[in-house]
Amino acid sequence: MRVVLLGPPGVGKGTQGRRLATDMKLALISTGEMLRDAISRNTPLGLEARGLIDSGLLVSDDVMIGLVQGRTLEQDAQAGFVLDGFPRTVPQATALDRLLAAQSRPLNAVVLLDAPTTELVTRVSARRECPVCKRAYNMVSAPPRDGKHCDDHPTVALIQRADDAEGTVRKRLDIYQAQTAPLVGHYREQGRLIEVSGLGDMNDVYAALKLALEEPGVAR
Ligand code: AMP
Repeated sequence: MRVVLLGPPGVGKGTQGRRLATDMKLALISTGEMLRDAISRNTPLGLEARGLIDSGLLVSDDVMIGLVQGRTLEQDAQAGFVLDGFPRTVPQATALDRLLAAQSRPLNAVVLLDAPTTELVTRVSARRECPVCKRAYNMVSAPPRDGKHCDDHPTVALIQRADDAEGTVRKRLDIYQAQTAPLVGHYREQGRLIEVSGLGDMNDVYAALKLALEEPGVAR
């Protein structure tokens, strides 16, 4: 199965995408994580992306399309994948359709996770992650056991992403509205959009997501 998770920053794409990928034995393709990994390794891509990400701006379509094209061809993605954070613009969506058509394996589903802006800002400000396993925490609703370290890596302190600072989050939300929200109409017009509320308990959101993907018509 090949699924796109669409939605604003902080809605839970990362958390839900990771769980879905593990559960359904799919590769998780998170473009944000790929870029953060490139930054931490100081690769040419990382050097190009760092300033853009830290100021909440998007990396160019050409770079992102090349990155995702290569990643979808890797061995672990052959059985299917969950895309988190891509496509983020209409040209990326068009390119994705084209590159998957060339591989004769089109998308099965595009899921929109959504929540009101005030909720997103609150959530992102409270968001922390483990720098080792990338597990996400919310310091208010889902804190780690000791309040500071990853439950799975008890010596590793949780960190806040630089682009989760409040001013940058608002900028990312504006960019989402301007550049990514048009994809909602794009996929809806094609009859390919499945909408799932990102509000509430994360286990309930996951259950709704799984149910939506089990609908007849969402081919495996
Ligand atoms: P995310 O982890 O999905 O919130 O992504 C973090 C940041 O990485 C974004 O704010 C962008 O700067 C960059 N990024 C991730 N995916 C894309 C994409 N598909 N197109 C452009 N920039 C991206």
